[in-house]
Amino acid sequence: MAKKSGKGINYKITCGNCGSHVMEYFKSSPGALKRCFIAHISNPNSFIKTDFTKVENKADLENICCPKPQCQILIAVPMTYKDGRLAYRMLTGKFHRQKMK
Ligand SMILES: [Zn+2]
Repeated sequence: MAKKSGKGINYKITCGNCGSHVMEYFKSSPGALKRCFIAHISNPNSFIKTDFTKVENKADLENICCPKPQCQILIAVPMTYKDGRLAYRMLTGKFHRQKMK
């Protein structure tokens, strides 16, 4: 899913509280990371049981929480973008993003 060329940036998303790996995300446009379209999510932490390649309905999505048992803060919640694409709304301050090469 992650692209190596063209416009856009691959980000590693980690918990804003404890730094645990959450997932990777390809962002095609600049600016703040307010939402993650599920089609651009890759390498999710194994605690995320959802298979993003097979999701068809918002009801198939669960909240994303930190995988660390002592942490488990809520990081993102399912949403439907205005054009109908499924996405996660990223909660401000609950995650870090780091550019990947
Ligand atoms: Zn955490």
